[in-house]
Amino acid sequence: MKMTAQHERVVIIGSGPAAWTAAIYAARAALSPLVVEGAGSRTMIPGGQLMFTTDVENYPGFPEGVTGPEMMDAFRAQALRFDTRVITDDVVEVELEGQPKRLVTARGPEILADSVIVATGANARWLGVPGEERLAQSGGGVSACAVCDGALPYFRGQVVAVVGGGDSAIEDATYMAKFAGRVIVIHRRDQLRASAIMQQRAFDNDKIEFLWNKVVTEVLGDEVITGLRLKDTVTGEESTFEAGGMFVAIGHIPNTGFLNGQVELKANGYIELPTPWRTETSLPGVFAAGDVMDDYYRQAVSAAGTGCMAALDAERWLAHGGPAENGAS
Ligand code: NAP
Repeated sequence: MKMTAQHERVVIIGSGPAAWTAAIYAARAALSPLVVEGAGSRTMIPGGQLMFTTDVENYPGFPEGVTGPEMMDAFRAQALRFDTRVITDDVVEVELEGQPKRLVTARGPEILADSVIVATGANARWLGVPGEERLAQSGGGVSACAVCDGALPYFRGQVVAVVGGGDSAIEDATYMAKFAGRVIVIHRRDQLRASAIMQQRAFDNDKIEFLWNKVVTEVLGDEVITGLRLKDTVTGEESTFEAGGMFVAIGHIPNTGFLNGQVELKANGYIELPTPWRTETSLPGVFAAGDVMDDYYRQAVSAAGTGCMAALDAERWLAHGGPAENGAS
């Protein structure tokens, strides 16, 4: 017997600040949104990148700070307080052109939707070397977000390594120089990829030094990081280096694989939004919010803001006959 698929007005895919904010707005617009929050994997859990963040001190409204998981619990609870339903599963297949949109989850039934908000975020790219994941998850001084974690008292006066050679690495190094005793940028080549102006700012900063042509092969330390094992990319020579912190800044990977090329992406893999200050994607009725489309700000508060925008854009599209114009009978 074939089960009839449930038909939704708005399905939101994701569970970070963008997704829950979109849910709050869509629920309060009486759209009864369905959130597919993800099932969790080794590198991502429902709640997104904030679940790996200890103290969030830059989200307005929390003068004493809040932990990332607490904050995501609160966002989720606020969405559930209104008429939001949640499926804890991954979307594994989509058909997003025309009407209705069709989504398939890993374990559950097929879902039909008039509109879809993609808020699946991005994963920080990690080095994948021994010690890194363990010390990042235990709060042992390893992080992929200097803006999130760098101001913690733990890093004050420490020797902190920043890995990478792009704008993010240089921005993180400059930021960490405010708190750390010394900042060592470890880059796999002898030239930075970062913009000239940011490079110059780092070269002019007395606290920032560079280790060129080096890759990290292991993060050392039991409870907290004590140092790094390095390998020279030119000579192959191995060395160790004492450090009390490490920030990995080698880019992010937006979570767009499940879209299977149906929505237009930018050259760097983030979702393209054709109209500035609108969250519409290249497909009518499909909207994007948060880090999956934002390769620039990548903050919880900016993600939440675009989640609000996506819900308002979806609501207006539905109210103005979007599905009918897009082929719904
Ligand atoms: P990015 O430009 O892709 O740079 C990544 C860096 O990490 C590169 O230097 C790369 O080395 C290195 N890298 C990549 N994989 C590595 C690995 N496995 N091991 C060691 N090193 C590795 O990424 P991003 O710095 O995050 O910047 C992303 C975008 O956001 C850029 O367009 C950037 O301009 C923008 N952004 C702008 C600002 C700003 O203007 N304030 C701040 C942050 C980001 P190679 O150089 O050898 O490839």
